[in-house]
Amino acid sequence: MSALILNAGREKSLLRHHPWIFSGAIHHVDEDPASGSTVDLLSFNKQFLARASYSPQSQIRARVWTFEDEPVDKEFFRRKILSAIETRYLLFDSSSDSLRLIYAESDGLPGLIVDRYCDVLVLQTLTAGSDYWKEIIVDLLLEETGLETIYERSDADVRELEGLEQKVGILRGADPQLPITISEHNLKFNVNLQSGHKTGFYLDQRKNRLRVRELAKDKDVLDCFCYTGGFTVNALAGGAKSVISVDSSADALILAKENIALNDLPANKSTFIEGDVFQLLRKFRDENRSFDMIILDPPKFAPTAVQAERAARGYKDINLLAFKLLRAGGILVTFSCSGGIDAGLFQKIIAGAALDAGVEAQIVEHLLQGADHPVNLHFPEGAYLKGLICLRK
Ligand code: SAH
Repeated sequence: MSALILNAGREKSLLRHHPWIFSGAIHHVDEDPASGSTVDLLSFNKQFLARASYSPQSQIRARVWTFEDEPVDKEFFRRKILSAIETRYLLFDSSSDSLRLIYAESDGLPGLIVDRYCDVLVLQTLTAGSDYWKEIIVDLLLEETGLETIYERSDADVRELEGLEQKVGILRGADPQLPITISEHNLKFNVNLQSGHKTGFYLDQRKNRLRVRELAKDKDVLDCFCYTGGFTVNALAGGAKSVISVDSSADALILAKENIALNDLPANKSTFIEGDVFQLLRKFRDENRSFDMIILDPPKFAPTAVQAERAARGYKDINLLAFKLLRAGGILVTFSCSGGIDAGLFQKIIAGAALDAGVEAQIVEHLLQGADHPVNLHFPEGAYLKGLICLRK
């Protein structure tokens, strides 16, 4: 087997079980391993450290499959897949039929995402290594879940860093009739697996949407960045008095309207606005509009720490405006899914927003990504979604 020999002293992160090796840590590469193939990671003194996939084009040059001296073969992947799936079934009940089954590094399978939408699996390979094993992984997923259909959504930008092309389409089984209807905490949602964001739906927000349902009774709600109506539908199901839902994507709003009808919820309590949240919040401020509950679930402003400062301004802007639009006793449910902004910084940004808005507020709850998006203790980068429920005094 080919080997990557690290520079002296660069084995430390591997000894702490962080799964990535950057190009700068590598002294030299023995032989010429193919992209995605398995290599041994050796210390400068040629001690075995881990077995990893090789990404010759990426700055993240290797990602660890295992820290044990064991074969990386079909049976290895079967064990990893089974272990990931078993964890999920320990955590979930039958009120939802859709969840993330495999979350990449968090499940010891770098670069591999597998989501289950009712009876359809959606697979995304983000790295040369996970792409290399794709056919075997697909066979194993069918064997171990008993399902028949796997759809591929390997169309994320990060694949380019690995020298991989974008791929979307059916891998096994019949092309599913789209949109497919899933169930989440006993509400139904239509999901477009082919062109929806990520693999189609923001599964990571499941329990936070339920929390909004619990809090929405009799409230005038503003759902910003509503996408296909995840929070909107929950607010209506929870007995909201009215819900205004805003998104810049016309396609997302079409599905959001369908999702209200699908659950027999009152369309007359719901208003959709296609537009820019930054502008709309200003307009509402100028019109002296006010709400009992505002949800802010924007897209990633800062994928990495480098963009954190600009992102921080964006978060502060929308949160400041939202605080101004909240009635006394009103609730702000605010999120960041930027990997580059940690929970401490996010809280500081929200504190600054309240201060500048001239309101008193307190945090009453911290929110996280769902348990089907677990975080490997040795790979904190897997934690990205953070949310706060703030109560305006
Ligand atoms: N809350 C949603 C997920 C939101 S994803 C859920 O639970 O399903 C972020 C959404 O923000 C996307 O739908 C995207 O179309 C929208 N978006 C991005 N920038 C925007 C902007 N400036 N104004 C309004 N919507 C925006």
